[in-house]
Amino acid sequence: MLIVMKPSVSEADIQQVVGLLEAKGFDAHVSKGEINTVIGAVGGKVIDKRGIELLESVQEVIKITSSYKLASRAFQREDTIIKIGTAQFGGAELAVIAGPCAVESLEQLELIADKLSKCGVKFLRGGAFKPRTSPYAFQGLGEEGLKYLRQVADKYNMYVVSEIMDISQISMMIKYVDVFQVGARNMQNFKLLKAVGKINKPVILKRGAAATVREFLLAAEHIMHNGNSNVILCERGIMGVDSHFTRNTLDLLAVPVIKKYSHLPVIIDPSHGTGRRYLISPASKAALVIGANGLMIEVHHDPDNAYSDGAQSLTLELFTALMQELKELENVIYKTQNTPL
Ligand code: PEP
Ligand code: MN
Repeated sequence: MLIVMKPSVSEADIQQVVGLLEAKGFDAHVSKGEINTVIGAVGGKVIDKRGIELLESVQEVIKITSSYKLASRAFQREDTIIKIGTAQFGGAELAVIAGPCAVESLEQLELIADKLSKCGVKFLRGGAFKPRTSPYAFQGLGEEGLKYLRQVADKYNMYVVSEIMDISQISMMIKYVDVFQVGARNMQNFKLLKAVGKINKPVILKRGAAATVREFLLAAEHIMHNGNSNVILCERGIMGVDSHFTRNTLDLLAVPVIKKYSHLPVIIDPSHGTGRRYLISPASKAALVIGANGLMIEVHHDPDNAYSDGAQSLTLELFTALMQELKELENVIYKTQNTPL
């Protein structure tokens, strides 16, 4: 249920409604928009909505019919913009996250980040804990890898994005990471979603390879329901019928679909989405045109010798060329409108 307050109500009016809802066992989530404050009431038992409608400060009470509530467009009409230092997800800006699949060494990160920062990239990615299909494949450098990420990101004025695989890693990782990434394999790890819901850093939630958009939004709802509303949704491809030419099927239409039903920013990962280097450029441009708020791209200085995902990593040269093309496209797309298409 959504309680839309009248414009210019006082804090006491808002607290009165929050108190009423909490007394009935609801969790009250207050969202202050440009004109109206909206209070989302979730959980709880039955409540006679007329009692709330009759309050002087209340404009309207709306029932949210979707199973995701806080993530829904009904709860918040305006797009969410998540600001991180000088960067942002959402609004008239394409956020680019780039870096290797896995952190391999300090020297590797130095070489890559130097080039990325020259291209204007603000987010440095790199896995320190790698969810690998095979237990014999490289599993990541752990905390050592996070230290390298922090050190290099600080040197180049970048923010660190890295994947968390288990709740036990939170207290250690929080020292090094600016944005937590929950990977596709953990999209429905509800304990992990709950735990990252309690931290005050943004979370990139990747779509599970076999997850519907509804399940994806409900996974985001778990994080938001636990208190963290800074969720960035990342489409990274789903299992299709043909994995001969592409690793996954990149569901670009998930972007406008999610934007219709949710206010959260959406980004595209064309590396995992395609699995092929030559497809990253066309997929990235299509993502920008279709309304994505950002891209997550794997980049490696020597992809043929990368510890993981070399085939879907851009070389530094290819990445530089792509960034140039994206900048030109951005000028066209963001010139006349606040949000693309
Ligand atoms: C990654 O981004 O390194 C990764 C493992 O991606 P995904 O969870 O989408 O497979
Ligand atoms: Mn990877």
